[in-house]
Amino acid sequence: DENERSGKWLVWYHEEMEQHYLRRLTIITELKKALMSEHTELSMVYQPKINLETSQICSVEALIRWNNKALGFVPPDEFIGIAEQAGLIELVTSWVIERTLIDLASFREAGYSFTVAMNLSTQDIQHPELLGRLNSVIRREGLLPEDLELEITESDLVEDAATATDNLTKLSNLGYRFAIDDFGTGYSSLAYLKTLPVNTIKIDKSFVLNLATDRSDQQIVRTVLNLAKVFGLEVVAEGVEDETSLNVLKKWGCNIAQGYFISKPVTTEGLFEWLANSPYSIKNKEDL
Ligand code: C2E
Ligand code: MG
Ligand code: MG
Ligand code: MG
Repeated sequence: DENERSGKWLVWYHEEMEQHYLRRLTIITELKKALMSEHTELSMVYQPKINLETSQICSVEALIRWNNKALGFVPPDEFIGIAEQAGLIELVTSWVIERTLIDLASFREAGYSFTVAMNLSTQDIQHPELLGRLNSVIRREGLLPEDLELEITESDLVEDAATATDNLTKLSNLGYRFAIDDFGTGYSSLAYLKTLPVNTIKIDKSFVLNLATDRSDQQIVRTVLNLAKVFGLEVVAEGVEDETSLNVLKKWGCNIAQGYFISKPVTTEGLFEWLANSPYSIKNKEDL
C-alpha cells in the first residue's frame, strides 16, 4: 500500500544519499593523502591549441589528472569542486603550478615557444598569496608571466567580483594573461567583460561540439565572435571534434581552436611525440 511504498522510497533515498556522501568523503580523504605524499597519483596532461590563421600550435592547456588506488580515475570536474569546498584547492593549485611550470620550462628547453594555459578556480583568484607563489616559481624556472595564460571559468567570476577584479588587475599588470573559460554558460557574461583585464574568451564546448549541424549553436558562436570583435578580445573555440567545425570557425574569423580533432590532452611524452609528427607544430620550433 501507500505507506509501504513511501517507506521503500525512503530507504532507497537514504541509501542513495549515503552512497553520495561516502564517495565525497572518500574523495576528500584520498585527495588529501595524494597531496601529502609523493604526488604519484596526480599528473598533468596537455592539450594543444592552434592558431587558425597560421595553422600552428600557439598554446597548450594544462589539465590535471587523478588516478586513485581505491576510486580509480576521478575526473577533475568531480574532484575540483569538492576540493574547493573541503579547503584543499590551495594545495591542488600549488601542485599544479609547480608541475606545470617545470614542464613549461622543459618545453622552452626543447626550443618551443608556445604558451601554457593553466586553469584557476574561484578561490585561487581570491587569494593574494597566489600572486607571490606564481611569481617565485616563474622566476625560479627562468620563465616570464607572458609565457603563461590563466583560465578562469565564467561562473566563478561572478561570486566576488570586487576581490577577483582587484587580484586579476594586479596579475595583469605583471604581464599575466587571462582567458574566460566556458564562455556563455555563466549568468552575467557581459557586465564584467569591460571591467576585467581579460585578453581571451573561450567559447564553451557545448556550443562547439555540434557546430557542423546545429543552427542555433552556429548563431551563438557567430554572435560571440562579433561581440569579441567589439571588445577587442581573442576567441578560442574549445571542443572542436571535426574538420567541418574547424573550417567554419576559421571562415568566421575565430582566432584559436582546441579539441579532439586536433589532439586529445596528452602526457608530456605524448606532447613531444605529437610535436614531432604534427603538421600544426613545425614552425613554432624556434631556432636553437
Ligand atoms: P575546461 O578548462 O573547460 O577544460 C576543457 C575540458 O574539455 C577538458 O576536460 C578537456 O579534456 C575536454 N575537451 C577538450 N577537447 C574536447 C573535445 O573535443 N570534446 C570533448 N567532449 N571534450 C573535450 P577535463 O580535462 O576533464 O577537465 C574538466 C574541467 O576540470 C576543466 O574544464 C577545468 O574546469 C577543470 N580542471 C582541469 N584541470 C584543472 C586544474 O589543473 N585546475 C583547476 N582549478 N581546474 C581544472
Ligand atoms: Mg580551461
Ligand atoms: Mg571549458
Ligand atoms: Mg570548465
